[in-house]
Amino acid sequence: MQEMSWKEKLITKESEAMKNCHCSSCGGDSFDSNFCCQFCGNENTTLKEDIHDISSIIKDFQGKELEEPLIVITLEKLKDFHSLVSPLSQQEIDKAYLSWAKGILSVDKFSSSEEEEVRYLFQDADLYQDQVAITIQDKIIMDTVLRKGHYSREVITEALYHFFYQIVKPWVKRSDVSSSKLDNDIAGLTFSNEVKISHDDIQNLILHGSSNVINTIGHEARHVFQNYKMMHNIVENKYDLFMLYDTLVDFYTKGAYWDNYYKQFAEIDARIFGYAVEEKFLNMYGYTLSSISKEKNNADMMLLAQEDTMRVIDGKEVLLENQLLSILNENLDLISILNYIMNLLKIKRKFVLKQKMN
Ligand SMILES: [Zn+2]
Ligand SMILES: [Zn+2]
Repeated sequence: MQEMSWKEKLITKESEAMKNCHCSSCGGDSFDSNFCCQFCGNENTTLKEDIHDISSIIKDFQGKELEEPLIVITLEKLKDFHSLVSPLSQQEIDKAYLSWAKGILSVDKFSSSEEEEVRYLFQDADLYQDQVAITIQDKIIMDTVLRKGHYSREVITEALYHFFYQIVKPWVKRSDVSSSKLDNDIAGLTFSNEVKISHDDIQNLILHGSSNVINTIGHEARHVFQNYKMMHNIVENKYDLFMLYDTLVDFYTKGAYWDNYYKQFAEIDARIFGYAVEEKFLNMYGYTLSSISKEKNNADMMLLAQEDTMRVIDGKEVLLENQLLSILNENLDLISILNYIMNLLKIKRKFVLKQKMN
């Protein structure tokens, strides 16, 4: 087997360290200089090894480490441990990092080493992001929208994934994004916390500067958030409750999902959020949504305000609430869900319960 280069070793070890940054016994993320958990005292031996390996790679550079962007990025990403891997001050590291970023932001085409560095910066974006990385991500995406960038497909795709995690990160701990060939007209898919972005959507950005993929990323990230809330029984407003109704009806009624796709509260909410993300992104650079997108967005706002719970079930118009109650009555094994819903109804929608009792 061929020996790994120092770069490969560094990139691999850093990624391992990022993933091992939690205590295996209590989940704590703070360690003392002996790698013992500040909360339970458990020694994190895997992290200790990773950090030890990283520091021995860095030591070989004997004071010239700040001339190597990959090392500067490593020191920045492992900020919490930097005193254990290097004698440099945070100030010195920050200065080198900012000066590297300045160079990256001044070009619209990367050399092979710059490409490697940026991709390394975007690596494990679900675990680490900072404002510099976000600024580079935004520039790569916007240059591509304006068709003035000459970046590789890989770098653009990773900037998009980085952008996805930037949105989803404040909401959920775990989520995965990837791209794949999806059916025509499907720009993205979300199952629980796994997101797939259509190849064609990314291709349309790269070839034609279409900003639709930004919208798609916002849309699918919103579904991840909705799913998270549903899994954790978080109901913050009446729309969350409607989403729960739709989800239960979709699950127990064949065809209900696609027959009512456009009107589903989760879809309206995701579409509105997708447009908001796209608009905010374009506005940063002084651009606005296309008039067609604005019209679609306004139509969704109206639809949401109407709180329309009429659904098509087996070709007939039925109230969502009634369909839900009939499902609950026919599925006594749903008793725990029933109890849960009843509990919500008591708080939020008492009238539905009364209607059932009549
Ligand atoms: Zn612990
Ligand atoms: Zn959707």
